[in-house]
Amino acid sequence: MSRDMGVAAPGSSTSGLGVVAVGAALEAVAGVAAMQEEVAIRRDGPETDPDEPPKKRVRLPEGEAGKLEERLYSVLCCTVCLDLPKASVYQCTNGHLMCAGCFIHLLADSRLKEEQATCPNCRCEISKNLCCRNLAVEKAVSELPADCPFCLKQFPRSTLERHQKEECQDRVTLCKYKRIGCPWQGPFHELPAHEGECCHPNKTGAELMGVLGEMDQSHRRDMQLYNSIFGLLCYEKIGFTEVQFRPYRTDDFITRLYYETPRFTVLNQTWVLKARVNDSERNPNLSCKRTLSFQLLLKSKVNSPLECSFLLLKGPYDDVRIKPVIHHHAFSNDTNETEYVLLPISDSVECNKLLAAKNINLRLFIFQIQK
Ligand SMILES: [Zn+2]
Ligand SMILES: [Zn+2]
Ligand SMILES: [Zn+2]
Ligand SMILES: [Zn+2]
Repeated sequence: MSRDMGVAAPGSSTSGLGVVAVGAALEAVAGVAAMQEEVAIRRDGPETDPDEPPKKRVRLPEGEAGKLEERLYSVLCCTVCLDLPKASVYQCTNGHLMCAGCFIHLLADSRLKEEQATCPNCRCEISKNLCCRNLAVEKAVSELPADCPFCLKQFPRSTLERHQKEECQDRVTLCKYKRIGCPWQGPFHELPAHEGECCHPNKTGAELMGVLGEMDQSHRRDMQLYNSIFGLLCYEKIGFTEVQFRPYRTDDFITRLYYETPRFTVLNQTWVLKARVNDSERNPNLSCKRTLSFQLLLKSKVNSPLECSFLLLKGPYDDVRIKPVIHHHAFSNDTNETEYVLLPISDSVECNKLLAAKNINLRLFIFQIQK
């Protein structure tokens, strides 16, 4: 999703724009300017001579500009969540707008319900092929003012991120001695005063040992995962393959969506992977939070137990963020399937991306533990 983010604002990106200047930025968008004129003309109504041509570009008093912005909010907002879109905007074939999050959510929902996805407004079919981006709306939204949560001043949406990160004098900042234990955090404009009197740079080596110990420990926890992966890479028997999860329906009274891969061979054994949504919750389409969990099944018969570590990662052709987690299982003819374990996808949005796609492509590694 982040790829689609950040539609550059045309021209005016000076920070600290007031409402009047924001109004001027809005005029850059042709349609908006036209609306503004219309408002101005109507307001001038009774006093103006009907024969006189309408005045061009009459600046609105601040109160009216506020109303115009409010009207634009309702024109440009996502028709599903009614929020102003933060990234890409999609539209159905009849022009109804959906923010990227809602669009992907609708597509994922339809897969869960095994229905064709439709526009909530006009019920026309929607899909990645049928819907297109609306760049004009994305740009117009990026020009609308938004409040900085720290200083509460207004900025065009397109410059807000930079303002919050780099320019806002009230943004939350940490002391540069945080690494050696200073817990201070406060508004940026108080930082120089704090750092001037911060006691941490004057601490002795002996006093800092405790903090360093804690840092070492969290570092060690991170390293453990990588070291165990490197450890596994030294095994004699390692196999990996691309796996493709395809959606299926159960024959239960209430049909449920689950995923299964075709049989595949790794380390001379036949395997299958299965996955389910929200651990087979009754109506995952009613829940906002979505997860996928999976299990690995050994389909071949084995003469002796087969102890394995396995790891599911993003495939070469799919764009999903998965944190590597190593699992272990001793496969035998009686214990030929693992428990369902969580696929560590970063969040529900990423999960919906997978659900919205036709198939889920991942890469599986199996490391055979030999004793
Ligand atoms: Zn939305
Ligand atoms: Zn529609
Ligand atoms: Zn600010
Ligand atoms: Zn400090």
